[in-house]
Amino acid sequence: MPDTATMPLNRLKGVGPKVAEHLERLGLRVLQDLLFHLPLRYQDRTHITPLGDLRAGDEVVFQAEIRAAQIIYGKRRSLLLRVSDGSGFVQLRFFHFNQVQQQALVAGAYIRGFGEARRGPQGLEITHPEYRLIDPGQPLPVAERLTPIYPATEGLNQPLLRRLAEQALVRLHDPRYAPTELLPESILAQWHLLPLIEALQAVHQPPPDSALATLESGAHPALRRLAFEELLAFQLGLRQLRQRIRQHRAPALTAHDALCTRFVQTLPFTLTTAQLRVSAEVRADLALATPMLRLVQGDVGSGKTVVAALASLQAAASGVQTALMAPTELLSEQHFQTLQRWFAPLAVEVAWLGGRLKGKTRAALLARIAQGQATVVVGTHALFQDDIVFANLGLMIIDEQHRFGVHQRLALRAKGRLNQTPHQLVMTATPIPRTLAMTAYADLDVSVIDELPRGRQPIDTVAIPERRRDEVIQRIHTALREGRQAYWVCTLIDASEVLLAQAAEDTAAQLAAALPGLRVGLIHGRMKAADKEDAMARFKAGALQLLVATTVIEVGVDVPNASLMIIENAERLGLAQLHQLRGRVGRGEIKSTCVLLYRSPLSEQARARLSTLRETQDGFAIARRDLELRGPGEVLGTRQTGLVQFHIADLARDAALLPKVALAAESVLQHHPECVAPLLQRWVRQGQQYSEV
Ligand code: ADP
Ligand code: MG
Repeated sequence: MPDTATMPLNRLKGVGPKVAEHLERLGLRVLQDLLFHLPLRYQDRTHITPLGDLRAGDEVVFQAEIRAAQIIYGKRRSLLLRVSDGSGFVQLRFFHFNQVQQQALVAGAYIRGFGEARRGPQGLEITHPEYRLIDPGQPLPVAERLTPIYPATEGLNQPLLRRLAEQALVRLHDPRYAPTELLPESILAQWHLLPLIEALQAVHQPPPDSALATLESGAHPALRRLAFEELLAFQLGLRQLRQRIRQHRAPALTAHDALCTRFVQTLPFTLTTAQLRVSAEVRADLALATPMLRLVQGDVGSGKTVVAALASLQAAASGVQTALMAPTELLSEQHFQTLQRWFAPLAVEVAWLGGRLKGKTRAALLARIAQGQATVVVGTHALFQDDIVFANLGLMIIDEQHRFGVHQRLALRAKGRLNQTPHQLVMTATPIPRTLAMTAYADLDVSVIDELPRGRQPIDTVAIPERRRDEVIQRIHTALREGRQAYWVCTLIDASEVLLAQAAEDTAAQLAAALPGLRVGLIHGRMKAADKEDAMARFKAGALQLLVATTVIEVGVDVPNASLMIIENAERLGLAQLHQLRGRVGRGEIKSTCVLLYRSPLSEQARARLSTLRETQDGFAIARRDLELRGPGEVLGTRQTGLVQFHIADLARDAALLPKVALAAESVLQHHPECVAPLLQRWVRQGQQYSEV
């Protein structure tokens, strides 16, 4: 029997092959897809608005007599009608009209129309209203319900989408087709959720007295109910993923002490209490034959790399390989150098799988990885490539997780041996608030490095308007003369790499001219990898005093001697990015300064961001503020990665639901495990991929 989950849409009236194709483009294949394809907004066509009451911005149904019609030959030819209903006037303007329309739309005719009023040259105007000519003596009904406006695509207009939705809604009440209520009674009752069918009905066909504002803001109980179910499904999906992975076997990495102890002794610093605690948690996980799934959160500069190094040594001591994946080539190169320096005395071989390795060199390296001599392999997502085969991969470390999605982790996992899953260590500097973490990382255990190494001094952060640029350059001059090193970060929003590179080159030339006798370097995304590394290496060695950079240095770059950071156009960057960039200084014991150069006038949001940054250096506080200002999509970096993509739910709008959803997930897993599979099937499109785990 076809139910909503399986009935193909071509069984509906009006769906031929062409329409089916367009529907497919919106991801709509079966009846259920259509039911969950929710309106973006609504129009109120339930009553006729007297023209005398019309204001600019109103979207209304009107009924009036055409008093005058004329063709205007302006910049664009248009047909202009002046219509009145006795209470007031409005102009109707058509840019596209044919002979037939022109002949029908004449003075004396009556018209019923719908459209949005805007201010025009001669009072209010409606451009291209939907209309029909009417007989004023014949009563013509108005809509009984609010009119939904659906997300559309070329070839699918609103009337068609509406007719299809209506056909789907009719089947809501037909027991043969109605979508199954998947939430257990107890959950519905506990969290005061509307039954599914009621919620769908209300969202698609809200009665005229519905509070439009709540429907559009997501506060409406019908939307809350649907968002709740989707978030719950997502949560259950991640937990199930976790359970599945935990059923696999991982190599128990029990040998560690000697190598790790020697390593810690060679470090020029002692580990912080937080680093020790987190390392111990990781060590205990690794010693088990169940795959570790652990997220290490630690603010910029908190020293996550050492924790990763210790884990990979434990792996090495136990005879398995580690893959360390970084989000950028530059960062992978830096990790490679750090680990090589640290591990050389311990005779642990570190390999770097750079994107520019070619031909024989690459083949030789792949052979060392395949034979197991390369114990720790550092790279970017290039590590996923098919020709990379590990002899015995036991641990994968993913740095700066917010740049990667669940899928990448799964892909790397597949590099483990047959019947053996590598342990996973994920590191992030994005200190996301707890409720969000529970949602986005429900499959991971979390450790937090909540302490910075001793001796770090707070970074002085100042905001200075662009017009005082010369003064800033003078200050840099003095500072560099005193032996300090500085970054100058060029940013352009939405600019191409080419433009950005150009801007950085120009700035570098200007600064070199303004700072005679000082060595100015340049690094940007369009430079050859070797040139980038060279610039970075010379800066690190102190041969360059000022490094002009684009945001390629945003994450992870570690030059402890650099103590001055200048960020151009700081008003245009988000808090998280500014925090990351600022985190490139203050990594040693030298007092550091961060200058936020901005252009006036500042928007209110920009002002709020800059002052937050001046007030605090605490990544968690900044993330909370960021969440208020921008919403979770940005905070999690999901915009770029598609880490969490919801159909109906919106993490910002529905943040208050998250703790409830977490509790509900617990309860479903315990008392109603049979609900999990159908919920995943309904909501989690990637279900297939996860289930291959
Ligand atoms: P992040 O957490 O941002 O990745 P890193 O691991 O790059 O931080 O560490 C930042 C800097 O602090 C590095 O130069 C590192 O060598 C240094 N560092 C790490 N741990 C300590 C410590 N316990 N004491 C002093 N310096 C440390
Ligand atoms: Mg780091």
